[in-house]
Amino acid sequence: MKTLLTGGAGYIGSHTAVAMLNAGHEVAVVDNYANSSAEAIARVEKITGKKVALYEADVADKERMMEILKAEMPDCIIHFAGLKAVGESVAKPVEYYRNNIDTTLTLLECMRELGLTSIVFSSSATVYGEDNVPPFTEDAPKGMCTNPYGWTKWMQEQMLTDAAKASAKGDDWKTPLSVVLLRYFNPVGAHESGLMGEDPQGIPNNLMPYISQVAVGRRDHLTVFGDDYDTPDGTCRRDYIHVMDLAEGHVKAAEYVIEKRKEAEARGEAAGGTEVFNLGTGSPYSVLEMVEAFGRACGHAVAYEIGARRAGDVQDSWADASKARAVLGWEASRGIDEICRDAWNWQSNNPQGYNK
Ligand code: NAD
Ligand code: UDP
Repeated sequence: MKTLLTGGAGYIGSHTAVAMLNAGHEVAVVDNYANSSAEAIARVEKITGKKVALYEADVADKERMMEILKAEMPDCIIHFAGLKAVGESVAKPVEYYRNNIDTTLTLLECMRELGLTSIVFSSSATVYGEDNVPPFTEDAPKGMCTNPYGWTKWMQEQMLTDAAKASAKGDDWKTPLSVVLLRYFNPVGAHESGLMGEDPQGIPNNLMPYISQVAVGRRDHLTVFGDDYDTPDGTCRRDYIHVMDLAEGHVKAAEYVIEKRKEAEARGEAAGGTEVFNLGTGSPYSVLEMVEAFGRACGHAVAYEIGARRAGDVQDSWADASKARAVLGWEASRGIDEICRDAWNWQSNNPQGYNK
């Protein structure tokens, strides 16, 4: 299978490139390095011993994307490209809506013109909103988002779903479109080689990179955002999933969508449509449990202080992961200790991240 990964130099995209190449598929990457560098792809090639077709381009640039897609004609596009910092999205909503929505619309226009069939999209558990009680199933109603980033995911899901619906009726599509929406829970950890991992710019917003930077001495201590939640230790619970498990979930999703199209076509039926999968482990851990586990991995306690709750945080979020298991034959296999071991291996070998 020929795949094209938008945003493939980023954290999840680069790990997915490794998993795709290891599964025997071809990989092309388009990235504008807004939040990454080409060094991540050099590491992908080093780990796998295989080549990636690498394009520096803005996915919202239609002329350029038409050229790239015509050259590659991928069986499946995996669309990671986007801006993802929740806090920044509150300060810069226009940039977030422009980038995240435009990249998806541009891809849809190019796919329609070129007759490309399949797209897998990086969505998020944030679309479940605050009113659902975990574990979240894929048919739980989408809720109100608490920030512009979340709304861009919500809207992109809708745009892709509407396009798949219209394409099935012909409209001006050459072929019915297949869409897979993957709702990630909390991606963490790193490739086990220690050569690739998360490389956030500036002060990390997310828990795991923050803990890692405290552990390696780049920051003094972690602030735990609230210990007065209605949970066993008072801190929020999340479904932390190893990034290589997540990456392998993308391989399964892309293989599934291509196989399903082939089977439908063989039966003379219309292929296409939208499918949604949670990618999570189904097991929640609290903030303090993650701090403790990281301490075990790095061999010393991680300093923390209890602070105020962070606006917009939900108390609990974890997946019902049974649909991906039943339909894709995929489930997360790496636990909390492997997550912390691999995150620490990356952080301690690359204290300043890539290129530094
Ligand atoms: P990341 O920032 O590491 O990767 C995103 C990549 O997209 C970067 O390499 C960036 O340079 C690129 N990019 C952004 N805008 C672009 C554009 N217009 N043209 C070309 N490239 C562009 O983030 P990530 O953690 O790897 O996330 C990948 C996707 O998964 C994003 O869509 C993100 O919203 C989504 N997601 C991430 C998480 C998470 O916790 N990391 C959770 C849920 C969903
Ligand atoms: N968190 C924290 N301190 C930090 C960053 C995060 O206590 O510096 C908590 C946050 O309140 C949440 C959990 O860690 O309960 C996971 O947060 P993250 O931002 O990583 O992911 P989210 O689930 O919010 O997308």
